[in-house]
Amino acid sequence: MPDERDIGEERQWLYQERATLAVASLQKRNTNARYVTNRQEALSVVMAMIPEGVTVVCGDSVTLEQVGIVAELRKRNKNIVLDPMERAADGSLVVAGAERLRMQRAAFSSEVFLAGANAVTLDGKLVNTDALGNRVAPMIFGPDKVIVVAGANKIVKDVSEAIERIHRIAAPMNARRHGIKHHMEAFGNLPCARTGICVDCNNDSRICRYTVIIDGSLGRRKDRINVVLVGEELGI
Ligand code: SF4
Repeated sequence: MPDERDIGEERQWLYQERATLAVASLQKRNTNARYVTNRQEALSVVMAMIPEGVTVVCGDSVTLEQVGIVAELRKRNKNIVLDPMERAADGSLVVAGAERLRMQRAAFSSEVFLAGANAVTLDGKLVNTDALGNRVAPMIFGPDKVIVVAGANKIVKDVSEAIERIHRIAAPMNARRHGIKHHMEAFGNLPCARTGICVDCNNDSRICRYTVIIDGSLGRRKDRINVVLVGEELGI
């Protein structure tokens, strides 16, 4: 008798089918893309994409943490790795103020920028929303190579569903995460972080400030943005 409580196989199938479509669409828009089954495979694929000796800058991403890329880069010890959002054991930021800004700006002249994604559309677009723009700006321009790692749970039908996902799931959970885990009260007090519902606020600390749709790359820059879609639920 099948175990009706375990839907792992069905989920894996759904993720793979959707990711296969998204990968084909991303490639049509000159975005390198591939599907991997799990986070272990994602880790080895991403590590192989990062040459030794280059500077790597990271955007804030739960997915990058879950895959363990920064930890692995530090273990390999062959790159300069800048993580402006690195956290201490109590969740507070290790680097603050002008030094954090310097690291965020360094992304623009780095060889590799690592990021997660809020949403990847089935028609091959990346949709992300930032409070500051320190993730979306270097995704568009600056670093030689951008590597985006995203769980297949981030795949949505189109841009409209992507923006809906950002306000329904990503922004409220991120605001809550910053409030609770990182002691950033202003974010924790946002309406969505208190109630779980976006009210399209005009709060001073609104985290939905810059929404960028990446509709692929110019043909001559087709190797710049690289997307690794993972057949697991990852990130927010
Ligand atoms: S607009 Fe305001 S309430 Fe809505 S998700 Fe963004 S920060 Fe939260």
